[in-house]
Amino acid sequence: MTPRLRYAPSPTGHLHIGNARTALFNYLFARKRGGRFIIRIEDTDIERNVKTGIENQLDLLEWLGVTWDESIDKDGGYGPYRQLERLKTYRRFAEKLIEEGTAYKCYCTPEELEAVRKAQVARGEDRLHYPRTCIDKPPQEGPYTVRFRVPEAKVYRFEDMVKGDVSFKSEDIGDWVILKRNGIPTYNFACALDDELMAITHVLRGEDHLTNTPRQLMVFDALGAPRPTYGHMTLIVDEHGKKLSKRNESVIQFIDQYRELGYLPEALFNFIALLGWSPAVENEIFTREELIEHFEEDRLSTSPATFDPQKLKYVNNRHVKRLDDEDLFALVAPHLEKAGIGKDKGPEWKKSLVEVFKDRLTHGAHIVELTRAFFAQDCLYDAAAKDILRQDGVDGLLAVFREKLLEDEHPDADVYRAIIKDSG
Ligand code: GLU
Repeated sequence: MTPRLRYAPSPTGHLHIGNARTALFNYLFARKRGGRFIIRIEDTDIERNVKTGIENQLDLLEWLGVTWDESIDKDGGYGPYRQLERLKTYRRFAEKLIEEGTAYKCYCTPEELEAVRKAQVARGEDRLHYPRTCIDKPPQEGPYTVRFRVPEAKVYRFEDMVKGDVSFKSEDIGDWVILKRNGIPTYNFACALDDELMAITHVLRGEDHLTNTPRQLMVFDALGAPRPTYGHMTLIVDEHGKKLSKRNESVIQFIDQYRELGYLPEALFNFIALLGWSPAVENEIFTREELIEHFEEDRLSTSPATFDPQKLKYVNNRHVKRLDDEDLFALVAPHLEKAGIGKDKGPEWKKSLVEVFKDRLTHGAHIVELTRAFFAQDCLYDAAAKDILRQDGVDGLLAVFREKLLEDEHPDADVYRAIIKDSG
């Protein structure tokens, strides 16, 4: 059977590093096994959708090199690939489940449900489940939700690609809503039904979805459909071991920001692939093709993945060094221009400048930082630097250093001369 994997973004904002990682591993798995990689848009949470969310995600995934075989722009025969265009399908299946007795209509109003919940809390109940008020109600007029009838005393057990043997008890889950009053499905129902209808064989996603899995398994079982194989990847944490949250401003977390800063997509791809996965070989620097070749799902890590910005810079620097002169120049040129560096200089001057810093350059915008000292009118020295500069003999040493830089046999002498002339 051809493996079919999917990335199922909700278009609620910019492409986050965590989502990019989910997409990337599903992509790697599909490519490695000669399968298909599908992008399905889960846009049923209407209030949270943002207007350009879909285009933005697809654009950035394409930039990263996470390319897909089927989606809203590429029909593979399993569409539509946007959930809001599949509402009739969800309703049809909800009705089928009602007929078969695995789901029922619930006429309780939100106010009634709230009152029930409050009473449960007041009684100190530990399971705040829907008390099945409507389970045997004859059909009546008026708005309703559709609830899944959770089987009694059933254990939902599965072998997770990352977590191993996982199980949940049905008694911990109340009869949950599959279709809301407005006809829009809930995430768990739409997701599982679509995974079945789109013939998804493997689901790799973040471990924050682990507790959703038993509900999704209920849907597969109710449909009499085979369950996909799941893999729930560990969290991404910051250097202090804290879950990487969008509020943590010390770490850049959105892919478009990296693109703006002049990070290389192949380097970012390489770095993200090492977040929670390690190859069997010692190396850390890979092309996309090499990553596909090395990918093995049994090497997905079981402990949290640490996001280390220094490592990202290191990986990017290694990819920068692989660029030919033209590509390297194309990477930094917009950043030089934005900073107004070498405004009145020709391309040769700029190319020599880039050549000098090539070894240390970690991303496009880094060129501005690296060359700042040359072009700044005043240098700011901290107290420690001032102490050193005041020491005996430092003046003479600096003069010799300057001479050496300008000596004809120094490979970059021309550039230094130009720079010194330029900055007076
Ligand atoms: N739409 C869900 C999300 O963005 C997808 C979860 C899944 O992969 O099942 O988190």
